[in-house]
Amino acid sequence: MPDKRPQYKARAPKTRRQFKATAPPVYTPAYRTAREVRSSPRWAKLSRRKRTDSPICEWCESHATEEVHHIQGVAAHPELAFDYENLQSLCTRCHRLLESAIRRDIDVEAIKAECQSHLKKAHGDDA
Ligand SMILES: [Zn+2]
Repeated sequence: MPDKRPQYKARAPKTRRQFKATAPPVYTPAYRTAREVRSSPRWAKLSRRKRTDSPICEWCESHATEEVHHIQGVAAHPELAFDYENLQSLCTRCHRLLESAIRRDIDVEAIKAECQSHLKKAHGDDA
């Protein structure tokens, strides 16, 4: 008698949601700390203060500040999470560029310089 049992193949996830469902959750202590920092009222207050103090993105110096970046990451340095000196106010675009450079281990200052020179060209500044 031939084997008629259906063959189930593992399908590659098509959407981001499906991919997340297949990936194991990452609940390392550092991840929990970073998440707890970002959802705390203390962080909400501190990041609002930083955005008020420097309303222009510190990278491109042309867009309004939308996000606050930890220079020393929260996961690696939870003790600096609420240190005002460890914060940088950035626009969303620059923050994404910066985080992506950090993840790929690319020189952050090189990316920053490139980003600024590109913007100066775009705005036609001679400086
Ligand atoms: Zn920016």
